[in-house]
Amino acid sequence: MKNVKLTTKILIGLIAGIVVGLLLGGSPEAANTYIKPFGTLFLRMIKMIIVPLVLSSLVVGAASMGDVRKLGRIGGKTVIYYLATTAVAVIIGLILGNMVSPGAGLSIPVDATVEATAAPNIADTLLNIIPDNALGALLGANMLQIIAFALFLGIGITLIGEKGKPFLNFFDSMAEVMYKITAIVMSYAPIGVFALIAPVVAVNGPAVLLPLAKVIAAVYVGCIIHAILVYSSAVKIFAKMNPLTFFKGAAPASTVAFTTCSSSGTLPVTIKSAQDNLGVSESVSSFVLPLGATINMDGTALYQGVCALFVAQVYGLELGLAQQATIVLTATLASIGTAGVPGAGFIMLTMVLTAVGLPLEGSALIAGIDRVLDMARTSVNVTGDMAGSVVIAATENELSVPQAKVKA
Ligand code: ASP
Repeated sequence: MKNVKLTTKILIGLIAGIVVGLLLGGSPEAANTYIKPFGTLFLRMIKMIIVPLVLSSLVVGAASMGDVRKLGRIGGKTVIYYLATTAVAVIIGLILGNMVSPGAGLSIPVDATVEATAAPNIADTLLNIIPDNALGALLGANMLQIIAFALFLGIGITLIGEKGKPFLNFFDSMAEVMYKITAIVMSYAPIGVFALIAPVVAVNGPAVLLPLAKVIAAVYVGCIIHAILVYSSAVKIFAKMNPLTFFKGAAPASTVAFTTCSSSGTLPVTIKSAQDNLGVSESVSSFVLPLGATINMDGTALYQGVCALFVAQVYGLELGLAQQATIVLTATLASIGTAGVPGAGFIMLTMVLTAVGLPLEGSALIAGIDRVLDMARTSVNVTGDMAGSVVIAATENELSVPQAKVKA
């Protein structure tokens, strides 16, 4: 019950922040000077917990699976699920881009130039998952490397049996402490969310947003359709969970993602929501969610689909079916390489545009409104991670009645 109340408070913080942001539209400096620091405080407190939380909970999760084969099975399922939902997201983005035609009839002078991001080399990307220095991975908060190291620690603990117990107990206790700290930080979330959103609304007033209202509408509508269509059916079919229960339980993390624009930054809240509100076991959530925050970006992929069509339309270029298929492929792959930090999807957009030969300057049009698009896509990214954790937990029989018993 306490959690439901917190969710309501966070939503009130969000709405109040939007209203105050609109009121302060004339003086964004005031919002930045007096309100933003309270949001930054919230963000720093969550980020503070990420590395120790992911490390400890994943070590415990991996060790508690008991065998390496199970780990491989869950890993395989998770990656396939994430890739499939991401591809669906790009397709929804493309359909909306074709239907809404956000760039048709638009002729905005483009003066900025944008440099393309080169497509990453596959071998290097894969090799990079294994840290060459475990402590370096922790210090640099490199999520995939931390996941790899934690899995090795968990496997090592499992294989040595009795002697590994004290080491495991240490991480077990550390994970509990981190969950507790997350709960403490979350009690500040309503203020944090308020203070994060108000300056964004004050700075990106209606004057900035209106000329590109169609792009914004296409991305937001696409995100809502994707969430309702894909996540509702996924949790219903695989977990027999009422979609309303799912969205309600996921709400704290979805809202924090909306305001922070960072999947990685939201991770402690995502893990807490999945465990307490959705009943996902610790071993599944501690593996599936950090992985999702790093590689699963449905909202980002959808946004790239819409934006690619938008740029093509602004320049009067036709994109054929083959080119749209290339977008599905590159946007799906690009979303894996996108870091869960603000604005990362925009940088990867240049890669998608290059892949189909669209002018990079087109993305300069998006730059001004990217923050507003980032909020929607990050929220979907994080909600998608949680849907994934529910699906994987259900197929592994690791979904329990949530502690918080969120009523639909
Ligand atoms: N901000 C997004 C996230 O953290 C990534 C993006 O820019 O698309 O999930």
